[in-house]
Amino acid sequence: MHAVHSYALGRWIPPGADARPIESAITGDIIAKAGHDALDTAAMLDHARMVGGPALRALTFHDRARMVKALATHLNANREALYALSHETGATMADNRIDIDGGIGTMFVFASKGRREMPDGHVYLDGDVEQLSRGGTFLGQHIYTPMLGAAVQINAFNFPVWGMLEKLAPALIAGVPSIVKPATATCYVAEACLRLMIESAIMPEGAVQMIAGGVGDLLDRLDAQDSVAFTGSAATARTLRSTPTILAHSIRFTAEQDSLNASLLAPDAGPGTPEFELFIKEAAREITAKAGQKCTAIRRILAPEAQTGAVIEALGARLARTTIGDPRRADVRMGALVSRAQRRDVLAKVAALSGEVERVQGDPDAFAALGADAARGAFLPPMLFHCADPDAAHRVHDTEAFGPVSTVMGYRDLDHAIALLNRGKGSLVASVITRDGETARALTLGVAAWHGRLYFNNRDSMAESTGHGAPLPHMTHGGPGRAGGGEELGGVRAMLHYMQRTAVQGSPDILTAIGGSWVPGAAEISAPAHPFTRPFEALQIGETIHTASRVVTSEDVAHFADFTGDRFYAHMDDAAAAANPFFPGRVAHGYLLLSFAAGLFVQPDPGPVLANTGLDALRFLKPLVPGERLTVRLTVKRKTKRTDEYGEVRWHVTLINQADERVAEYDLLTMNAFSQQGGA
Ligand code: NAP
Repeated sequence: MHAVHSYALGRWIPPGADARPIESAITGDIIAKAGHDALDTAAMLDHARMVGGPALRALTFHDRARMVKALATHLNANREALYALSHETGATMADNRIDIDGGIGTMFVFASKGRREMPDGHVYLDGDVEQLSRGGTFLGQHIYTPMLGAAVQINAFNFPVWGMLEKLAPALIAGVPSIVKPATATCYVAEACLRLMIESAIMPEGAVQMIAGGVGDLLDRLDAQDSVAFTGSAATARTLRSTPTILAHSIRFTAEQDSLNASLLAPDAGPGTPEFELFIKEAAREITAKAGQKCTAIRRILAPEAQTGAVIEALGARLARTTIGDPRRADVRMGALVSRAQRRDVLAKVAALSGEVERVQGDPDAFAALGADAARGAFLPPMLFHCADPDAAHRVHDTEAFGPVSTVMGYRDLDHAIALLNRGKGSLVASVITRDGETARALTLGVAAWHGRLYFNNRDSMAESTGHGAPLPHMTHGGPGRAGGGEELGGVRAMLHYMQRTAVQGSPDILTAIGGSWVPGAAEISAPAHPFTRPFEALQIGETIHTASRVVTSEDVAHFADFTGDRFYAHMDDAAAAANPFFPGRVAHGYLLLSFAAGLFVQPDPGPVLANTGLDALRFLKPLVPGERLTVRLTVKRKTKRTDEYGEVRWHVTLINQADERVAEYDLLTMNAFSQQGGA
């Protein structure tokens, strides 16, 4: 029997005498045990706060993102070992791809976003500088810095790898140490995954610890800099979030809990359309993937009343073809539930629905399990129900049978559909199969506030669509009300959940020093040579040149108009331009001014500047009239190392007229090479 260890204070700790038994989903045999009554949770928290946290915070966002990429690469190379273990949880190979490959893929995405969208520093800037004073000497900037405590991550049993990695990767990139608590039923898979990560020695000591079994008094010992991210049932979430310590210290508590997700067949997507086939296919997949043990699984299937019969017939036929049995077999489409206890729970929930629904497919007492003993393992067939009166029904809208169970119900019109979709009182995802933009818009306005994600699909998107049930690292995951009111994933937002937002106010120099990004009004550093001649590592934030000036003539404007074909009247016709409320008369083209600006600040020789990759935040502030004089201020605003050979330089560019007024302003982006010595 496998003894599942916890990992605390840099050591693997075997289960204690009071360890809980864990059964195989396939045979019902006890295959592992986990749990201790004597884990020193105070020492674990200290270790996270005093060892893991400082070590992580010494690294930059980019260092930590590279670390997460290295972990993902290591796991990817060793994932076969995880597949073999995961089958014991009832998971087929297709389920493993969601959990194990999906978890590793999620890490790769976060690693990439951490490097592309976060600074190679320690402070994340949120939004633009806020002008708080007329003269610009007192400004505001929102920033994020890592929380100084531990991130406690409590996961559900259904995704032992993805569930752990989707929380761990953002916490690592944010710079916050984690204490992971996998669900006991599948903790042996999470343990194996963590062992691979620890053995790789990629993370600093204290970055991650794990508790197999109960958490003891951990939650009572938390403090305001700690956080809890929970995934599981609504009932457990309610218990944990009302822990007195969590309430007393306003400890951040994120809950991802169960919900009654729905999928809707729109009126335009009836039988005979590609959308109808798609609807049936997606619904069947969501009922059978992970044997229906997915937080995003479709529990309610809504179709126009006249089409519920066709839906039941097509979906029932598809589900009847689902092969059930030993998940290791290639010919098995649906494996087992995680345990016989879970199977009993699902059947109890089904019994609770019985007064409101009629079973139309799948008999739990009569089905075949390929290569397995159906009586010993935790097998169930896919079960489809029909609810004839969804308005009068209650339990069908609030009882989550966490297994291969779903109910078809009819709707009269879109208003009725909206009312039914919202009866779930908050869900993670609702899908709508339609090709009609007006239907999509009406439904969005009616239901978006009750749903964390809306998934529209039709013949145009189906080949590339990612699936109703797949939470993506790029998009937020979570939902209001019943779904927990929490939020995870969502690109860089995932990292921010482990950080504190602080409004910082001060002078431009102070904000520049804190954020590592030059703020207009801060001191300018006189460049020792033209900045285009200086390698990436030599450039200093605030380094500035003021260019020579040139007069912009009406011949220049006419020449530009002829050359480019841009003969907009404001540049060509004095009277017409003067009639426009924005112009005093004929003015120079904005693009002409940008081109002249480049002519003024560019140093033309081959050198460290490799390429101009774009402009950001361009604003034309004041028109320039022919005869006026133009000069440019070019300042190094921010630097981001991209590779060992080059980095991105963000330049603040201001075009100024002869009266010292700002004509235009923008950020210029260039890729600049390191000197040969500086790149290593
Ligand atoms: P659960 O019974 O609520 O357990 C969730 C986690 O909480 C497990 O790790 C469990 O540990 C732990 N836990 C239970 N009591 C605790 C306590 N007193 N103190 C500390 N930790 C405690 O849920 P589950 O059965 O594992 O998962 C199924 C549910 O999760 C379903 O309802 C599903 O909808 C939901 N879910 C939601 C999402 C989402 O992202 N929204 C994702 C997956 C699943 P033990 O296993 O040791 O009891």
